[in-house]
This record gives sequence, structure tokens and C-alpha cells, in this order.
Amino acid sequence: MVNLELLDFLIESHAQLVAEPVMGNMEDLFVLYKGIYIASGDDSYSLERFVEDIDSIANTSKGSIVFEENRLLSIEKSSHITKYIKLIDVYLLNLLHEQLVPSSRVNRTKNSKTDAVECAPASSSNLMDRLMVALDSAIEIKSDIESRKEKVWNHYLFSKLDELLTTNVGSNILGKERAMHNTPVAEFIPICANTEHSSLLSTLLYIVNNKIVSMQTTKLSKCEAQCPGFKECLLNNIHYVSNLKPQTDLTLGDCSYLDTCHKLSTCRYVHYLQYIPQSLKERVSKESQEMNKIMETKNSKISYYTHGECCSSSFKTLLPPQWICCDVRKFDFRVLGKFSAVIADPAWNIHMNLPYGTCNDIELLELPLDQLQEEGVLFLWVTGRAIELGKESLTNWGYEVVNEIAWIKTNQLSRTIVTGRTGHWLNHSKEHLLVGIKGKPEWINRNIDLDLIVSITRETSRKPDELYGMVERMVGTHARKLEIFGRNHNVRPGWLTIGNQLTGNCIHEMDVQERYDSFLNSASA
Ligand code: SAH
Repeated sequence: MVNLELLDFLIESHAQLVAEPVMGNMEDLFVLYKGIYIASGDDSYSLERFVEDIDSIANTSKGSIVFEENRLLSIEKSSHITKYIKLIDVYLLNLLHEQLVPSSRVNRTKNSKTDAVECAPASSSNLMDRLMVALDSAIEIKSDIESRKEKVWNHYLFSKLDELLTTNVGSNILGKERAMHNTPVAEFIPICANTEHSSLLSTLLYIVNNKIVSMQTTKLSKCEAQCPGFKECLLNNIHYVSNLKPQTDLTLGDCSYLDTCHKLSTCRYVHYLQYIPQSLKERVSKESQEMNKIMETKNSKISYYTHGECCSSSFKTLLPPQWICCDVRKFDFRVLGKFSAVIADPAWNIHMNLPYGTCNDIELLELPLDQLQEEGVLFLWVTGRAIELGKESLTNWGYEVVNEIAWIKTNQLSRTIVTGRTGHWLNHSKEHLLVGIKGKPEWINRNIDLDLIVSITRETSRKPDELYGMVERMVGTHARKLEIFGRNHNVRPGWLTIGNQLTGNCIHEMDVQERYDSFLNSASA
């Protein structure tokens, strides 16, 4: 039995059914047919019956529908239907219709082409053109049946577009994996958690001025006899031994700042010294060097796109570090040019004893940071009340605050810090980094890193180096990048750093140098 409605459908829409985006896919054909031809509410018509009906038409009129096998379909969609329609011969189908329902289709046969076009308004072979037609026709008023057909087509096209847009393409996945393999890594040295080892080790070490000076190796065998495995553990793990002083009160427990404690000579809490045998240090550094060398040679052979980098990264060398020592309040930011990414760690006046000068709120808010980017991303470190101020300033500079990264601070023992140096109601053990986006930077790589950094605290105000990698993965290593309020330890290849504690200037970009010279001239004039 030939399903006449299905035959009508195939005749009317044949051109669309074998072209993009349907491409003769049986499941898609079924969705369209059900949406257009089957009265709403009839859910009993199944995909299996649809396939049977198609087969019966194909068998009744040999050659009218040509199938092809696609084994990939079964793998991709775990579908049991592995064939798709490669070709529909509308002439043969019309003949069949004519035989089944004589004369009723005389006119239709003649106009079958135009019918098909009307049924599916998006008739062009190009998917984008089809979508544009679909969008245009969505507002036109049509008769009921026509608009129903149209709705189904439009719905179908939009769902296909959505599928295309949300599909994570293979090159992207491969690129990410590749980046993972090409990112230099250093070996992780585990920390020994055996307290007996620490106390044994403390009897062997000779400590002067909070530094381990030597170890009594002669006593090692005695310790080994007392605690088997001690020697082996010493060679492969980091050990911490308590650095006891006359003022140390063991009942108080660990100092929260540990090695970054400002009052080491008077603090009554327990502090630690780190012990890593020289042989282990050497082994790890040699292994890391070798690994990085392998990575370098591997990198030089990469000739295609990886996530966030174009092929030129493999042969283009990075611009060496650049820096300018200046007072940002008196600097002309136009000297610097435009950047893809900016990091700013303003010296907010947070009423604390800081080892550097700060700026007041007005001075910071009035910095012309709106001049630095046409579009791109700006990272702004904020603290306490500056969180709100920072958000406001970002908006004023033309940014939308899209995210906030938290830096969870850890101490020497890789534990979170429990008694922060700042905080009114609760102790601060994290810092906040606002992420502002300006314009519509489609070129920024998304979804690579987290909005979280867990890393060790260092000197006062010094921020974690992990951020540089995150920024570089977002905008690419060769993009222009600026750090404002940076110090000497912040300068790095591919970045321009400005701040008033930097030692002198170092500029490699000739246009920046020219503008800087004329800025100096005009300032002195
Ligand atoms: N992010 C940095 C710390 C920045 S601390 C790090 O990781 O180490 C703030 C810096 O801004 C200090 O070096 C301070 O001297 C500098 N600074 C303060 N006022 C400034 C001004 N008006 N112009 C330039 N730099 C200034």
C-alpha cells in the first residue's frame, strides 16, 4: 500500500529533501513529514512505519528513490537506520501518483517545481540563504496550511542551526588537547605527611638564621633503624621541619603566614623550614629541562592551528619584555597603543601599611583606561571596598563585568590561610579579580581556564603568575598585552609593564618608542 500523503510530500519537497541541511537523512525527513502532513495529535505514526512507507514507494516505483548506506550514521547517532536517500526522481514519483489517482495531479505535475518551492520557502541550496529566506518569510501572512508548513520548516532550520552552533568542532577539541601536550610542566614533588619523619629529621639538621645549613649524615642509619623507609622517603619527598625558637609556644599551633610571616623573630606560633635534598632538586630540574627541550622541538614542528594560537606561533619569536617606569597619574596612555588584554593591580588606598605609595580613589577612577582597548579583556584586582569601586570604574571605562576570578591563597604547607592580614568581619583568605569585556571580542578563546586560582602567597601584594598563562590562553601569546602597576618581577616576554617601582625603561616596539619620546619632549617643554 502506497501512502499517498507521503508521496505528495516527496513530490512537493523533493528538492529540499536531498539537499543541505536534510541531506536525505531519514530521521530528519520523518520529523519534517510528521510536522507538515500529519494532523497534530497523531503520535502513533512512528519512524519505523515511515521507513516502511518510503520503502514501499521505492519498491512500487523502482528507481524513484535511491538509497545509500552510511555506516557512520549508526556510530554517530546510535541510530539503527543506516541508509539515507541519495536521490529522488520526481518524474517517476509523479507517474506513480498519476497511476494511483488518475488526473488529479495533472496540474500539479506541471507545476511540481513551483509547488515544492512554495511548500518550503527556503529553497536555495545554501543553508545561510535558506535561513535568511526563512527569517524573512516568518513575518509574511500565509494561508493556514501554508503557514503550518512554513513553521515546521523554520523550526527545523533553526534547530539545525542551533545544532551547528553548539557543536564543538573537532579542530577545537584537538587544539585543546594539543595545547595540553605542549604546555611545559614541572614535576610535582610530593610532601611527606609522616610526622615521625619530621621529628627525626629535625634532630639531624643544623639550622642558623632560619636556614638549614647542614645535615648530620652519620646519624642517618640510626634514624633508618628506628623508622624503616625514612632514608628513601627523604630522597623522594619534600619534608618540613619545625623551626623552633625560644619564644615559640607549641600549644598555639602553626603560624598562618608561615614563611611569609613579617614578625619571624617575635612570632610565637610554629614556623617551618623546607627540606629538599640537593640530589632531588637536581633530578627534578634536569627532568624539567629535558621535558621542556622535547616540547620546544615538538613545538617547532607544529604547523597548524591549536586552540588560541595560529600556525605562525611555531616560528614567530615572542617580543622580549618591555617596561616603562612612570607615574600613571601623569602618563599619557596614548603612548602605549592598543591591547588585546590588560591587567591592572591598582595601588588602592586600603589604609594598610604597604611597602609602596598608593593612589586615592579619585585618581584611580580618573585614569584614562578607556583608551587602551578598542575591544578586549581587562583584569582588575580589587579588594574590600574597592570591589564596588572597581566594578563602577570598569563600567565607566566602557567594560562589561562578565566574571570574577577568585585567588584562594595557600601557604608554605599548601593549606588555605585561615587568619588573613585583612578583613573587617571575616578574615580574607582570597582575593578578587574582576574580568571586564569591551566590545564584542569574538576572537577571545572561551572556556579554557576556571574562574579560580589556588596558589601560594609570596611578597606583599604580589599576585599569582598563573594569571599570565590564563590571559595568554585567552588572547594568544603574540597578542599585545599590558600590565599596569607592575613591579620588576612582573615583566615578561610578550608583555608591556608600567609602574613607578620599575627600574628604568625598556621599549622594543618602535612606534611606542617614538610616541614615548615625543611625550617626554612635550612634558619637558
Ligand atoms: N601586581 C603587583 C603588585 C602591585 S602593587 C605584583 O604582582 O607584584 C602596586 C604597585 O603600584 C606598587 O609597585 C606601587 O609602587 C605602584 N604605584 C602606586 N602608585 C602608582 C602611581 N601613581 N603610578 C605608578 N605606579 C604606582
